[in-house]
Amino acid sequence: MKNDYIKIIELTFVNAFLVKVNEGFILIDTGLSMHWEKLDSELILAGCLSDKLKLIILTHGDFDHTGNCVKLREKYKCRIAMHKDDSFMVENGLSLKRKTRTLQAMLFSLIRKLFRKKFAFDKFIPDIYLTDGQNLNEYGFNAKVVHIPGHTKGSIGILTGDGDLFAGDTFTNRRKPEVANYIENPMDLKNSIDRLKMMNIKMIYPGHGKPFEFEQIVRNL
Ligand SMILES: [Zn+2]
Repeated sequence: MKNDYIKIIELTFVNAFLVKVNEGFILIDTGLSMHWEKLDSELILAGCLSDKLKLIILTHGDFDHTGNCVKLREKYKCRIAMHKDDSFMVENGLSLKRKTRTLQAMLFSLIRKLFRKKFAFDKFIPDIYLTDGQNLNEYGFNAKVVHIPGHTKGSIGILTGDGDLFAGDTFTNRRKPEVANYIENPMDLKNSIDRLKMMNIKMIYPGHGKPFEFEQIVRNL
């Protein structure tokens, strides 16, 4: 079951999630810079005006999730939070080199190289560094941070009290629910998944594709 406090903003092939919290909203991931107009209008449609956006949380430092941070921070005067280990990516506009597991993932890397300029984003320095186990209650969000390195070193999941996990690219549902196709560190990824299996997770909200029940894949992990 999808929860109605979560608005999924589909930005072509990547998701941003607008979460309703006390007296405002938190945005999880921001899409590519070329998605600005769509993202901006979806926020307005949802009633996320002027001072309503309290915080941006980035699940990791990849360009397809960080593309609109600077514009949003300027517009809403909100802060940007992420894990410190991916900070260098947004500070330098870097993309990590990663192992690709599938042909599709290899093709996607090639496209990324070809469209480097289109995918470029404004560099920035985050305002807040989130750490493993950190409670987000102070932002009016009944959720905690889970550090799940593997896809990138600084990948985090946001696990709500209802068992919804905003998983970034640790999981994907491009064609079917599965584990990350791009992997920086396979051993880290395995350990992260093992940790997640011990947690009370019902729904996975992946960075790409539709949400799915964790139960659907947990037996094969
Ligand atoms: Zn991504």
